[in-house]
Amino acid sequence: MIRVVTPNRKKSRPITSPRREVYLTESAFLSLVVSAIEVTPKETYGVLLGYRERNRYIIDYAIPYQTAERHTSFVYRNEKAHEKMVRFLDELSKVRPIGDFHSHPNTYVKASKEDKQQMSFSEVYIIVGCSRKTREIPWNYNRDGTLSGTTSDFMIKICAYYPLNVERKTIRYAPVYCPFAIGYRKSLSGTID
Ligand SMILES: [Zn+2]
Repeated sequence: MIRVVTPNRKKSRPITSPRREVYLTESAFLSLVVSAIEVTPKETYGVLLGYRERNRYIIDYAIPYQTAERHTSFVYRNEKAHEKMVRFLDELSKVRPIGDFHSHPNTYVKASKEDKQQMSFSEVYIIVGCSRKTREIPWNYNRDGTLSGTTSDFMIKICAYYPLNVERKTIRYAPVYCPFAIGYRKSLSGTID
């Protein structure tokens, strides 16, 4: 069965710092979903642009990297292209690179060992799970903090995480909010005024 699986939550000692949250704009949400669908079953990769407000990451844009080397179980960014892009993106006054995203076609949205390798403390990371749809599921927030729903052909699950300890490669999952995602589907019936 093809499915997108939710990250497991381990019971551990209480963490005192407040959980960070992720807010996606309409533009960021559409880019995340479209770029994952476009290349599935390969993985997409890109940069998240926005800003951080205390414990909130506001993500205005998600820019997919056209030069990423895409495979079905991993994706590499082109470092030379990344450097060129970051030099430009750092010039922007209102938004700046605050993390990256990639997709997990037909697999888990849990961060893999590789996903935890190159984390920066202040950044946020998004994984978009994209699998073939088996039934219609309305877009909604899940109790584990992910955001999921179906498109015409795919089941999409969006998960965000940030590092708790960069050296130890420990992470914490962040709830993802996107009001646009909850109501974007056009209704199938109804009168036209
Ligand atoms: Zn991954």
